[in-house]
Amino acid sequence: MRTRKPNSDALYVHIPFCSHLCHYCDFTKRTYDEKTATVYVDALVKELASYGVGKVTTIYVGGGTPTSLTLNQLETLLSSLKPHLKRGGEFTVEGNVENITREKLVLMKAMGVNRLSIGLQTFSDERLKAMNRFHKAQEAIDTIALAKKCGFENLNVDLMYGLPNETLEDVSYDLNHLIELDVDHISCYALSVVPGTLFYRHKIPEAGEDLAREQYDLILKTLRSQGYERYEVSNFARNDHYARHNLVYWDDREYYGIGLGASGYLAGVRYVNTDNMKAYLEGQYRKETEPISPEIDENDFLMLKLRLARGFTLPEFESRYKVAFLGKYQTEVQELTKRGLLQVENDAVRCTDEGIMLLDYVLLKLFKR
Ligand code: SF4
Repeated sequence: MRTRKPNSDALYVHIPFCSHLCHYCDFTKRTYDEKTATVYVDALVKELASYGVGKVTTIYVGGGTPTSLTLNQLETLLSSLKPHLKRGGEFTVEGNVENITREKLVLMKAMGVNRLSIGLQTFSDERLKAMNRFHKAQEAIDTIALAKKCGFENLNVDLMYGLPNETLEDVSYDLNHLIELDVDHISCYALSVVPGTLFYRHKIPEAGEDLAREQYDLILKTLRSQGYERYEVSNFARNDHYARHNLVYWDDREYYGIGLGASGYLAGVRYVNTDNMKAYLEGQYRKETEPISPEIDENDFLMLKLRLARGFTLPEFESRYKVAFLGKYQTEVQELTKRGLLQVENDAVRCTDEGIMLLDYVLLKLFKR
């Protein structure tokens, strides 16, 4: 087990409130109420202080829906985070269309927020309603325009596919509208129906494997043709506008995670905070901790790095694990490269396009030892 000082340059902050609850969502979230949100923001500030966090390169305020907070609550939160951001750092806030207002955008800009991530999901009003999203497609288009007008150039939008009854033509319709938004970062996720959600209780089926694959292939082909780079399994960027904070996770680097249900990775230990609001407000933050053994660390490294189109370099692996990757994984690499799933080129190990689609299989092979 590794024991060492925290070596984190990134901070995740969780806001567990949403103005409504989507039928497919299993994140740590609850319906917004002003009284609880006010004490929660104060508790977050206390948890932050408990780490003695200095300056970090990325801050990500996610949820839930951070923009469900009132202007005052948002100001309290952002003003306590702002001093922790290094010059030139990335400061992202997630938001939803129904509660992003001009006033909140102006406040966020003044507080140094320089990246917004907006949950858009689809341009079909019918599907938005079926998912219990509270906005209409046109409102999403207007919100993106307003964010740009307020000076936000670094924008991410989330798109979902594999939605109930969604055809390939429906995905194509979404993509056409998405491209018109002219944003530099797009995250695309397939709907997954998980226990604890209304979709699960109502037995809403996920898209079949073949259809989901066809939809993903269409997304990949379309976005690439528009100059977007698929730099991670589900993430596309233009003009080098990669999600710097998320790269911390995929690069298997450490980060502070604060808030209800937040996870973090500090000093060789991964942890998850409590999802019990009462306990959290009383300062009992932790639910689980998992010291990372060298074996788990190596598996985590492979699992996270191979999500990235650039993979990892041989010297990087050797310097971290004191063993040559090609020596240790010779048989597996031979098999995976022969099957066209893995590529070793110019000292870099990465999945091919097909390997990214079959990432679970690739990892299963590599995890065998
Ligand atoms: S807005 Fe986001 S976090 Fe909130 S319920 Fe919907 S999907 Fe979940």
